[in-house]
Amino acid sequence: MDLYSGHINKLIEELSKLPGIGAKSAQRLAFHLINLPKERVDRLAASMVDARANVRYCTECFTLTEQDICPICANQKRDHQTIMVVENTRDLAAYEKTGKYAGVYHVLHGAISPMLGIGPNDIRLKELMKRLQADVQEVIIATNSSLEGETTAMYISKLIKPTGIKVTRIASGVPVGGDLEYIDEITLLRALEGRTEL
Ligand code: ZN
Repeated sequence: MDLYSGHINKLIEELSKLPGIGAKSAQRLAFHLINLPKERVDRLAASMVDARANVRYCTECFTLTEQDICPICANQKRDHQTIMVVENTRDLAAYEKTGKYAGVYHVLHGAISPMLGIGPNDIRLKELMKRLQADVQEVIIATNSSLEGETTAMYISKLIKPTGIKVTRIASGVPVGGDLEYIDEITLLRALEGRTEL
């Protein structure tokens, strides 16, 4: 039975495909949007289309950016010999917010998860190895302390070890299963300072 108009059903269907949005939330959002002034909905829709059209991956570190090379990679004052490996752009933003990390990053866009069928080729690992052909002194692995994050850290460390480049892992002051983006700056800095060689 079709309770709502086809247009609303379509909107609910699309919203429910977003991460963290269940059927109920999708319904609530759809009705909220329908009740907004038309200009606000136009602005929201336009900002989505605009972001999608103008944001791309940095060709160096694969974070999201509007240029070919992101401002961090383009900054010659940063230490390009130290690369911090994170799972996603949100984790990069969390470390960047501390203002205390002077190196550059590498964004994997995921973590290895045999359970979810995500293998080394599904994340930006080849791209990291390619970057290591340049003059790199240290790779800091700052993946989350979840099972997937630890699996990824071990995998990367085994891969890099033969190159002779120093590989470190941030300290486990970060709670297990904790997403880096939710952890406060002091904890992040402590994890970074307390990093150990793998
Ligand atoms: Zn970059």
